[in-house]
Amino acid sequence: MGKILVTGGTGYIGAHTVVELQNNGYEVVIIDNLSNSDIKILTQIETITGKKPGFVKLDLRDKSLIIEFLKEHTDISGVIHFAASKSVSESVKNPLLYYDNNISTLVNLLNSLSDKQVNFVFSSSCTVYGEPDILPVTEQAEIKKAESPYGNTKQIGEEILKETANATDNLKVIALRYFNPVGAHQSALIGELPNGVPQNLVPFITQTAIGKREQLTVFGDKFDTPDGSCIRDFIHVVDLAKAHVAAIKRMEAKQMAAAYEVFNVGTGNGYSVLELIHTFEKVTGKQLNYRIGPPRDGDIVKIWGDVSLAEKELSWKAENDLTSMLSSAWAWENYINNNPLN
Ligand code: NAD
Repeated sequence: MGKILVTGGTGYIGAHTVVELQNNGYEVVIIDNLSNSDIKILTQIETITGKKPGFVKLDLRDKSLIIEFLKEHTDISGVIHFAASKSVSESVKNPLLYYDNNISTLVNLLNSLSDKQVNFVFSSSCTVYGEPDILPVTEQAEIKKAESPYGNTKQIGEEILKETANATDNLKVIALRYFNPVGAHQSALIGELPNGVPQNLVPFITQTAIGKREQLTVFGDKFDTPDGSCIRDFIHVVDLAKAHVAAIKRMEAKQMAAAYEVFNVGTGNGYSVLELIHTFEKVTGKQLNYRIGPPRDGDIVKIWGDVSLAEKELSWKAENDLTSMLSSAWAWENYINNNPLN
């Protein structure tokens, strides 16, 4: 097995994937500029797996640094590319930051790798579907005009990868369209670590429950859904991490049907925001202080994935239910509250 380069490997999904890769016997080297993560995550990964992954602090916007890195690491056979900026609202305020950090970095990486045989896994998102016409949404569904520069970077990223993989024999790509990753590792030693005010629902819930935030706002309860709140396909981050290992294994075993493939990665179940809140209250015994606020512009009303293709082709299936997602997120919030990394 060759070495796997994990860009953004100290981030939320990246760290969980590094754990799963190491547990499967892979040697890992991380590139991260630590713009949205903490170096101490490496020690946490070592505590979980017994092995500290390789790490190079590097900004992927600088192509010369990637070329230098690849001269030192000639044995890389696979790349899992997480590094990106991921806030929808920030991308609306500063689109160029997003095109630079999500698109220039991808092009730099692909250019630097162009003379190597590489299996490449890309972090895409169900945002590419916009508001789907048919549920559950399949990989064949129409790609709708992106609602934000962030969403656009995922669509453009997929196109760049598809065109490049089709133009060369060196590159094989699996794009994974994530639904909504939540939860934390069962050890509670790694989890989602938002910088400032959380943009995602579950860290906002756990921070409200522990007293770091005063109140949670639910954006709208008059949508066309059973309880009026939005519906999402929440997936445990450990299940999501395992999908990346399955993708790498599929490419290594030369099982791909084409040089570029796409898979939905979710549970196939939709839960509403209010269901999530009430499950959290049941699991933790904590009463959440929340209010109903106005809907947000551009929010998808309901989406959940058809995940049968990933189950069939990747031999992968999400195993964790909502209770396990939320109890692990709560255990992590308690851990990090008592053991701040910085
Ligand atoms: P994260 O912010 O926790 O991790 C991203 C990591 O990339 C961070 O450690 C950050 O420091 C690093 N990084 C950013 N720009 C970099 C650069 N120029 N050079 C080197 N490192 C850089 O995010 P995450 O939640 O783990 O998301 C990982 C990927 O999954 C992203 O591409 C994101 O768009 C995608 N994704 C996330 C979600 C989600 O809800 N978390 C959903 C769908 C897709």
